[in-house]
Amino acid sequence: MAHKKTPENSSNLAGGEFKGADEASEARLLDERIARYGVAHARSQAMLCHLREAPSQASIKTAAGLASCGNYLHFREYFTVGKVRLHSATFCKQHLVCPLCGIRRGAKALGAYLTRWQVIQEERPDLRPYLLTLTVKNGPDLEERQAHLSKSLRKLMTHRRHFNAGVPRAPWTELCRAEGGVYTLELTNNGKGWHPHCHMIVLATSQPSQTDLSSEWHKITGDSMVVDCRPILGDPVEGFMEVFKYAVKFSDLTLADNWHAAQILKGKRLLNSFGLFRGVEIPDSLLDEPLDGLPYLDRFYRYLGDSYQPASIRE
Ligand SMILES: [Zn+2]
Repeated sequence: MAHKKTPENSSNLAGGEFKGADEASEARLLDERIARYGVAHARSQAMLCHLREAPSQASIKTAAGLASCGNYLHFREYFTVGKVRLHSATFCKQHLVCPLCGIRRGAKALGAYLTRWQVIQEERPDLRPYLLTLTVKNGPDLEERQAHLSKSLRKLMTHRRHFNAGVPRAPWTELCRAEGGVYTLELTNNGKGWHPHCHMIVLATSQPSQTDLSSEWHKITGDSMVVDCRPILGDPVEGFMEVFKYAVKFSDLTLADNWHAAQILKGKRLLNSFGLFRGVEIPDSLLDEPLDGLPYLDRFYRYLGDSYQPASIRE
């Protein structure tokens, strides 16, 4: 089980979470959601087996969490409005090793920031969202690469802050166009070394120049200039999802690499915000908000074999 192939589509799991969330077809999408959660849980279980093969001081607690995470899911279907809400479940909240908790965490963050964006839009219709990706060159030492990315980002943010505050001789940065932003760190490793990078939503009245950002970034990092900046067009969910998906790309990582990455990233701040996006609160609970005052049907699912199966309440 520990050597089971990582599901190909698991990097997109957080994506499906919000598709159709406001459509009456939600109830029909429940099967897809259950299947997605099943794939995620299978990977968590594979990690559990992996950790149990060679237990260490650090892995015992993690394994205990994984062992109880997502064994059952209890949904409420509000059949008069075609909505479904995840009502109860046990979560380990170890999003760096558990894709199920990763999906839920991403969905909650996505929801909170989209809500804030809607409010901002009303007040500032001149602002547009842009997706900015900043990368550092691949390398064999994850800790070194991760520290390099974090340090470089801090420098870039300091440039912005100092210029905006009128600090003498502070250099201009294209990021000064951003009146608000939220960014996360993500890790991939597809066999060519560790590749930490940053995805950022930038709110600005005009598009930051990718060319200028690239040369700024090269000056800051000394070794990296790959930067991408593009407007988020159409449904903002698509662009925002890029920022709030997993912090580690499970589908790219072997279980051993995943565990190593979790050790390095543990306790690090992986989500930051500034300006108009400052102070957005992400709910602690990984469950959905219930819909009050509407009739519902309870739907229970238990993880059996390799997928979630409907279960009766008396089982
Ligand atoms: Zn979990």
